Amino acid sequence: MATKFVFVTGGVVSSLGKGIFASSLGLLLKSRGLKVFMQKFDPYLNVDPGTMSPYQHGEVYVTGDGAETDLDIGHYERWLDVNLSRDSSVSSGQIYSAVIEKERRGDYLGACVQVIPHVTNEIKSRLKEASLHSGADVVIAEIGGTVGDIESLPFLEAIRQTRLELGYENTLFVHNTLVPYLRVADESKTKPTQHSVKELLGLGIQPDAIVLRSEVGLSAAAKEKISLFCNVPVNGVFEADDCKVVYELPMKLHEQGLDDYVLDHFGIKAPKPSLKGWEGWVNSIYESKKGVKIALVGKYVELHDAYLSVVSALKHASYSYRRNVEIGWVKSMDVTESNVADILKGYDGVLVPGGFGERGSEGKKLAIRYARESGTPFLGICFGLQLAVVEFAQDVMGLKGANTTEFDPNTPFPVVDFLHDQYADIAKGGTMRLGYYDCELKPGSLAYRLYGRKLIKERHRHRYELNNAYREDMEKAGLKVSGVNPQSGLCEIVELPGHPFFIASQFHPEFTSRPLRVNPLFKGFVGAAIAKRGD
Ligand code: GLN
Repeated sequence: MATKFVFVTGGVVSSLGKGIFASSLGLLLKSRGLKVFMQKFDPYLNVDPGTMSPYQHGEVYVTGDGAETDLDIGHYERWLDVNLSRDSSVSSGQIYSAVIEKERRGDYLGACVQVIPHVTNEIKSRLKEASLHSGADVVIAEIGGTVGDIESLPFLEAIRQTRLELGYENTLFVHNTLVPYLRVADESKTKPTQHSVKELLGLGIQPDAIVLRSEVGLSAAAKEKISLFCNVPVNGVFEADDCKVVYELPMKLHEQGLDDYVLDHFGIKAPKPSLKGWEGWVNSIYESKKGVKIALVGKYVELHDAYLSVVSALKHASYSYRRNVEIGWVKSMDVTESNVADILKGYDGVLVPGGFGERGSEGKKLAIRYARESGTPFLGICFGLQLAVVEFAQDVMGLKGANTTEFDPNTPFPVVDFLHDQYADIAKGGTMRLGYYDCELKPGSLAYRLYGRKLIKERHRHRYELNNAYREDMEKAGLKVSGVNPQSGLCEIVELPGHPFFIASQFHPEFTSRPLRVNPLFKGFVGAAIAKRGD
């Protein structure tokens, strides 16, 4: 079967939940036995979000093959329980730099290089690569931004051309819009949707299905009106109401016949979906009555999207125990020697996530010290491991002035350091350790107990490492290395035996946690936090 393409666009306003819709559709099609690959086209000119500020972009999500991607890729992976790749995240920056590189190389044989066909061809080649590399039955491609934005025009033009090339039966356009509710008139208004579809039509795209986001639910009459004015069959008009639990959306869309509609369009016969696992996950959320309180100590805590995967993994873990996680967003810059105990004493666990730079690092170290000394369960991630090592070196090993060379290059004790010989392509700026690396766990350790096996692989995004020159002394003083990369000997996990739960990883366990396959470090951490509460 030729790969089928679903294109998801958005109109009227941003933040409509296109990514959640695309994930829901992906989940439904996967549950009907199809192989699904997800792709996001982002109109911004950055090559990837790796260098963007968290204020601009939220979290940078890292795939197994080491791509720094848009946070929507995380939604897709979690909802579909699949591993995606760098093919999943395409930005205008990547497209333009590829086109310019080809132009410089002379690949266009002297042609005048233009948006159509050169840029659009480059976009279409990404679609083809996604289908080729993944071998998917269906590729769902979400076009970022809102119809009418200048930046997304080349993407919309490329998907228009794709229908011309591949035909109606191999392509499907789904347009997401907002139907606002006017309280004073007690009416839901369809006009913005009509305008948005008109805008799409002006670009040569007639949507095959429309998904309406509404606050209040829509009448049959409103849907019929949209069907008539937007030239979409009435059974192709779907509602995505605000759900009490967002994970219920796939079931709601299935009840409206979304997956049947899409499969009929493509002429695919597939068994009925089996959504048992997903329904079980939703039920576990409803069944969660008691709580567990976790302090998340970070620099960007007013911006929850900066820690989206960490929050998701905490939820996966807590719901697996039928608990609601209450996250205390602790701004690390506000934590001082004199207030740390007051701030943290009400929490069942302390989590220090990944981060960069000196600002706020003192507060994080104080939080780690508090967790270490008070026996509060602690999970450190990446920068959280590095600061746990620095804190331990300063306070327990007595190495005055010990630090990471990330912001103290002249420290007398560089316990965390940038290891130059590790990076072959340093001259090209490729200095980050990204994506999957193996980790061998030490039998008998907490890490080994949690994972239940010796060899694991997890995803990375960092430059600095525990300096192995200090490892022996550190272990003698009590902080044990329980996970090591077998190829390079680099430290992957440290833990503190004798403490109720004190563990930190150089990798990011949050990127592999899924609703029904909770990452073991999160599962263990939240379990220990619940045990500490004793309720
Ligand atoms: N800043 C640290 C490094 O580059 C940690 C990075 C992170 O936490 N993702 O190694």
